[in-house]
Amino acid sequence: MSLEEYRSFHRRSIEEPEAFWSEQAAAVDWNRRWDEVRDYSRPPFVRWFAGGETNLCHNAVDRHLQERGEQTALAYVSTETGERAEYTYRELYAEVNAFAAALRGLGVGKGERVIIYMPMMPEAIFAMLACVRLGAIHSVVFGGFAAHNLAKRIDDAKPKVLITADAGMRGGSVVRYKPLVDEALDASRHPPEKVVVCHRGIDEEMPVDEGRDLDYSGLRQEHAGEEIPAEWVESSHPSYILYTSGTTGPPKGVQRDTGGYAVALVSSMKHIFASEPGETMFTASDIGWVVGHSYIVYAPLMYGMTSIVYEGLPIRPDPGIWWKIVEDYGVNTMFTSPTAIRALRKQDPKYMREHNTSSLRNLFLAGEPLDEPTSRWASESLGVTVRDNYWQTETGWPILSSLLPGLEDEPVVPGSAGFAVYGYDLKLVHEESGEEVGPGERGVLAIKPPLPPGCMSTVWGDDKRFVDTYFSDFPGDELYSTFDWATRREDGRYFIMGRSDDVINVAGHRLGTREIEEAISDHPDVAEAAAVGVKDEYKGQVVAAYVVPKESAPAGEELEESIKEIVAQRIGRIARPEIVRFVGALPKTRSGKLLRRSIQALAEGRETGDLSTIEDPAALEEIKAATPQSR
Ligand code: ATP
Ligand code: MG
Repeated sequence: MSLEEYRSFHRRSIEEPEAFWSEQAAAVDWNRRWDEVRDYSRPPFVRWFAGGETNLCHNAVDRHLQERGEQTALAYVSTETGERAEYTYRELYAEVNAFAAALRGLGVGKGERVIIYMPMMPEAIFAMLACVRLGAIHSVVFGGFAAHNLAKRIDDAKPKVLITADAGMRGGSVVRYKPLVDEALDASRHPPEKVVVCHRGIDEEMPVDEGRDLDYSGLRQEHAGEEIPAEWVESSHPSYILYTSGTTGPPKGVQRDTGGYAVALVSSMKHIFASEPGETMFTASDIGWVVGHSYIVYAPLMYGMTSIVYEGLPIRPDPGIWWKIVEDYGVNTMFTSPTAIRALRKQDPKYMREHNTSSLRNLFLAGEPLDEPTSRWASESLGVTVRDNYWQTETGWPILSSLLPGLEDEPVVPGSAGFAVYGYDLKLVHEESGEEVGPGERGVLAIKPPLPPGCMSTVWGDDKRFVDTYFSDFPGDELYSTFDWATRREDGRYFIMGRSDDVINVAGHRLGTREIEEAISDHPDVAEAAAVGVKDEYKGQVVAAYVVPKESAPAGEELEESIKEIVAQRIGRIARPEIVRFVGALPKTRSGKLLRRSIQALAEGRETGDLSTIEDPAALEEIKAATPQSR
């Protein structure tokens, strides 16, 4: 019955999009109502709520002043500096206005770009909100990226101003930001005129360029008490540019609109994250990623929640820190990545039980495949429902979710990211013919355009790249490709199998990297694994597995043999890894995604390609060293 209920909810979103989305849009404040819910006169480009006027900052801050001015909007916890701070909506309003006034004084206006290159600190969020308040377009670049990555993003965005800090901290060590910024500006062709620096007092030796650099706290003081009216912008006015994680190649600059994004996010808080205004959300991610943009900043604030802003690692000062935060602030909804939970799973399980986490209803995880063992472990040790959800930087909010209206009592099936989210007309298609495949068959997950509200409008400054990248994969060019491979059960549940070009083909059998990795990580002595296909003269490809053993487990021939056996038993002899290598860490992007493509390149003795977003280059060296010389 309940599944039926959701099906008709979803069906209506596809068949009557105008009626459906204008109902959802009622939860957002508009200065002017739209002329058209959906303008699809220039496919595949779509404009949601065309002609409507709104502002993200007004929706995130101003409109709450009356009802929740004294409610905490942001609660900041840094286990790096030891700082804790809270800002009510009224205080947030004051901070954002002062900073908007300062930016306006620097010539930042509607449509102007501003780069934000900052650690996780409240000022970074003030800066984002100040930008959209003015109708300016922010581009947050993940703090800690190397200078040449920053320079590339500067040249792409051509910002008027760049906002940064003296330094960040990671695991107790100082990461200097300002010298990196100086280096990036020297290397860039379009350096901004002004740089605003938030001096946290971490780097006393911070270099200052007197003519160009401005002090954040000085500006704040100068403009304290000023009020800058929110600039009403047309619904499709760009709110921000954000780059994809760069797991598969050079990152793509995603351009987001304003009105569609606001509507999608606010509706998702209710329908997917099952939260209420006034409640507390803790998204343990970084504002440099899409999860941070949507679920640390815009969605919880627009919905009138308290959002926890966390700077630090999940295991410092000890692996119980997140659950302590849940207890201290009475967190109701939590969102993080499977990688973070896997890091906790390597630790003593006692940390999971030291704190009272009874306020927590759901733990949402997204960003990469959530393996069953990790999912089971988290839900058993925390006593909460673990909810996988699947999406992309491009979409800005979930494509698949197990929690949706009517599905509250549906059992969660571990391994499945859930059902098609309303608004998304999903097709599972054959990778070459583009024809739909049946239940249980594998296909590439595609979206029939127009993309729903919230999704990217285009690639920043490059409409052609948008069409060529996402809409040219299948004959007829009518579908948006996610480039992910999935299956769908008869009941509508989807299972993401991995990236469509990560498939391993052993003697004509197509194997998902994910299923092999999952079988291996189910081994009690294994913490993590990466499976890649390696060219083979006879079989086309064979499976190579790079495995991180648990700290207590001895890596050796015995473990190697039992890993090969567990795969053979679970999936079949054809999937049995030919090669198993033990390493201390797997190479990942800064956002925690496995760089499988680079591992595969090394395993085949090739170059690794674009590595601009790698977390720990040493992990790749280790893979290289572990790779058999004979190949
Ligand atoms: P790039 O596009 O630059 O190569 P990326 O695809 O890793 O990088 P993101 O937009 O951060 O950049 O990640 C989206 C991708 O992450 C999805 O396309 C999918 O491959 C993976 N992903 C996200 N959530 C899930 C999930 N719940 N289960 C499985 N995979 C997921
Ligand atoms: Mg991608």
